[in-house]
Amino acid sequence: HRTFLVGGNWKCNLSKDAITSLCKELSAAPDLETDKVEVVLAPPAPYLDHTRSVLRKDFEVAAQNIWVGGPGAFTGETAAEMIKDVGCTWVILGHSERRNLPEIRETDDFIAQKTKTALSHGLKVMFCVGETLAEREAGQTLDVCVRQLRALAEVIGANDWTDVVIAYEPVWAIGTGKIATPDQVEEVHEKIRHYLAGEVNDSVAQQTRILYGGSVSPTNCNELAQLPDVDGFLVGGASLKASFLEVIESFK
Ligand code: 13P
Repeated sequence: HRTFLVGGNWKCNLSKDAITSLCKELSAAPDLETDKVEVVLAPPAPYLDHTRSVLRKDFEVAAQNIWVGGPGAFTGETAAEMIKDVGCTWVILGHSERRNLPEIRETDDFIAQKTKTALSHGLKVMFCVGETLAEREAGQTLDVCVRQLRALAEVIGANDWTDVVIAYEPVWAIGTGKIATPDQVEEVHEKIRHYLAGEVNDSVAQQTRILYGGSVSPTNCNELAQLPDVDGFLVGGASLKASFLEVIESFK
């Protein structure tokens, strides 16, 4: 049994006031049945503490990045200890915007090392993978996802996957309104699970949740939520509005 999980990645959006209003609107829905669905929201770093204090307690809070090491002389970085100190329980790592923006360009290994750091501090990780349009058109979709996952497997080994969730986010579907088709989504999710079974182990393959991300909205979530290897969503733009509650409901 894999509990459905819906993440909302606010990226570099919203303000303190906007977060207060949105959290108030999100509180209107009934309590979550947390054995059936988990919800995690990821505000920009300056608002982690504020979001935790105004957000309903049955929703969890994620950072969008962490530093690879401990606290110290690392100007501009945020240590795992600090994320935990303000009540956050998750971190998003390996997002395509951090992998691919030329000013950032995080490498597979750096992302894997940060994942190890997060896990060792008891933070849960949404580990993002996915191909660009050029990679898909070149037939490299699975190679890219496997390369990104293999970097992680090399660093964390086979035991420590309980707190890892994989988010498959094809870059060409992010923020474009161009959603992957159910066949495209299921094909990649199934292959990721197959990779985990072969190169990590069968129980990791069966237990690890694989989320889909890329233009998920209230209008397209229900069909995707039915797919056998889709265990939830990582939502960008549609998580900035109260109608995000409709995406959460798609677990039913
Ligand atoms: P959109 O839902 O805005 O396409 O963003 C997806 C995403 O990148 C979530 O991490």
